[in-house]
Amino acid sequence: MNARARKVVIVGAGAVGSTFAYALQIHGTVREIVLIDRNKKLAEGQALDLSHGAFFAPPVDIRAGDYEDCAAADIVAICAGAKQKPGQTRMDLVSTNVEIFRQIVEKILEHTTESILLVVTNPVDILTYAAVKFSGLPKQQVIGSGTVLDSARFRYLLSRHCQIDPRNVHAYVLGEHGDSEVPVWSIATHGGMNVLDSCTVCDRSCSEIDREKIDEQIRNSAYHVIEAKGATNFAVGLALVRITTAIIRDENSILTVSSLLNGEYGINDVCLSVPVVLNRNGITRYICSELASSELERLRSSADAIKKVQREAGL
Ligand code: NAD
Repeated sequence: MNARARKVVIVGAGAVGSTFAYALQIHGTVREIVLIDRNKKLAEGQALDLSHGAFFAPPVDIRAGDYEDCAAADIVAICAGAKQKPGQTRMDLVSTNVEIFRQIVEKILEHTTESILLVVTNPVDILTYAAVKFSGLPKQQVIGSGTVLDSARFRYLLSRHCQIDPRNVHAYVLGEHGDSEVPVWSIATHGGMNVLDSCTVCDRSCSEIDREKIDEQIRNSAYHVIEAKGATNFAVGLALVRITTAIIRDENSILTVSSLLNGEYGINDVCLSVPVVLNRNGITRYICSELASSELERLRSSADAIKKVQREAGL
């Protein structure tokens, strides 16, 4: 990867792609953002609108472009494709988006094999697997945004429930970014204390039912937002900035991105999210924590559910 480029290309300048660009502009991590969309006018309009904010944000060159702009990009993020309509699951998008990915990945590879591919389009785990297969790139270089957003939702809900700053809550959602995802309570901590242990000394006396409610809220968050406004874009935009920053600043951050597993947690040949160490080379290490047996079982069922759709999609 080019050590100094700090360049991000975003394919798909719709709600998610443009909000990611906006959050990235404000954050000041990169020097160059290029927006590509099959609707060129949309990409141009978004780039112009963002550029007009230059006076109020750290310096960054934002423009609409084409696939040749992927050359020397640190990250090419793919946010293009169909999105969920109210009532649709992420898995309902498979056939349309796999075909879109086949074309997009091919075009990206004509100009770069060095960049990290960051898959955002849903169903993100299936499409990360498709991107690994279609690109032939090393697996550490192909990353799905996975459950980074779901883990953030878990932290937010726990922080609200326990009345603790979300920055002091460490909690992860593993597995599919979707209906079979697994919030792992057994390794959730705040202030160095396991959350379940702290329940025993907390005067709020929460029960299994409270925990199930939080699980349900994490799982159904996107459905509620899509029902209300037609898309989710702000929190995912920030989650993408977090992933991008971990890569570009070589942070060695632990994030639950989606990637091809090869025996981790006893799971093979499927992309899903587990905690990994992320730096400028992509995924450098997997964190395999000891989970409660019921959580491990659910994680493996999540893998089976994704594999079934993978097979049906002919991947
Ligand atoms: P959107 O409809 O607003 O934008 C999609 C854009 O993709 C459109 O501008 C469209 O012109 C473009 N596009 C479609 N096919 C293309 C192609 N072949 N080449 C280039 N551009 C193409 O949708 P959105 O709300 O931005 O959502 C985009 C995707 O992100 C959806 O699949 C959605 O489900 C997913 N998403 C993922 C997460 C996550 O956490 N991973 C969160 C929210 C949304």
